[in-house]
Amino acid sequence: MHSEIRTDLIHDRFVIIAPKRGNRPHDVQPTEVPVSSRECPFCQDPLMRAKGIYTVANPARKGKPSWLIKVIKNKFPVVSPANPHAYGAQEVVVETPEHNVEIGELPDAHIMHIFETYIARTRALSRDKKIKYILIFKNHGGKAGASLVHAHSQIFATGFLPPHIIDKLTKGQEYRIAHGECYYDELVKREEKGPRRIFSDAHMVAFTPYASIYNYEAWIMPRRHLDNITQLTHEELHSLATLTKRIIRKVNALQISYNFYLHQAITDKEEHFYLRIAPRRDIWAGIELGSRLIINTVSPEDAARYYRS
Ligand SMILES: [Zn+2]
Ligand SMILES: [Zn+2]
Repeated sequence: MHSEIRTDLIHDRFVIIAPKRGNRPHDVQPTEVPVSSRECPFCQDPLMRAKGIYTVANPARKGKPSWLIKVIKNKFPVVSPANPHAYGAQEVVVETPEHNVEIGELPDAHIMHIFETYIARTRALSRDKKIKYILIFKNHGGKAGASLVHAHSQIFATGFLPPHIIDKLTKGQEYRIAHGECYYDELVKREEKGPRRIFSDAHMVAFTPYASIYNYEAWIMPRRHLDNITQLTHEELHSLATLTKRIIRKVNALQISYNFYLHQAITDKEEHFYLRIAPRRDIWAGIELGSRLIINTVSPEDAARYYRS
C-alpha cells in the first residue's frame, strides 16, 4: 500500500497512513521489566486495608483480600477541590488487589465491575456542579505514561472543559444540524459493514477508525445513542467489558503499551459515548511535533485484520 493522507471530520486531524514494508503487524516490541510487588505502593498494607472512596467487595473471601476494586485519592493531584486556581478531582482506580494481573486476564464479571466503578464515580463527581468534565483513562506500560505496573486506571475531573473538547462537540453539533442525524450513529452503521470492523454484537461495534492516529487504534461504540457511561444497560456493559477484553488481549500479545479512555462533557447531553483504545508503539517525532501531521505505520485495515485474526 502507498501512503495515504486521511482526515476525520470531528477530530479535524490529518494522518498519513504509511505502512512500512517489512513492518508486519505482528512485530513484537520489548516491554519494560515489571517492578516487584515489594516496591509497589498498591500492594502495601495501608492501601490494602484503606477504606477507599469506593470499593467493590470480594464475594469469595477465603484467604483473599476483601476487595476486588478500590478507588483512592490520587496522592499527587494536579487539580483538587481545595484549589480554586485548578479546581477538580483526581482519583485512582486500583483494578485488582493482585500485583501482576492485567485487565485482559481478569474474568468478564470483574471487568464489568471496573466499568461499574467508573459509572459510580461519574455519578458521584457530576453531583458537584462545579465539575464540567470527567476523563477516565488507563495508562499501561512505559510509553503510555504509566508509572506503576499494578493494574489501575485514573479519573480526572475538572472545573472547565478543555478547548479541544469544545471544538469536537461543536463539530458534532454542526453535523447534527446539517444532516439531522448523529455523526457517530452513522459512523457505527458504516464501519460495521466495512474493512475496519473488528467485532460487533447486538449492543456494541468495535472498529479501527479510518484516520487512526495510533497504531492499532480501536474504538468501541454502542449502537444506541448514549450520552455517557452511566446510561449503559447491564447488557451493554457486559458487551463493552467483553469487547474491551478481546481487544486488550490482542494488544498485550503485541507487547505494546496502551492507553484507553472515555470521557464526558457534563454540560453537553448529546455526546455519543465511546471507549477509545490507543496502543502506543510509534514515538511521535519531528514531523508530528512540527507539522501536527501524524504518521501511522499500521493501516487501520491491517490493524482490524489483526484484531479479527
Ligand atoms: Zn502491586
Ligand atoms: Zn449518536
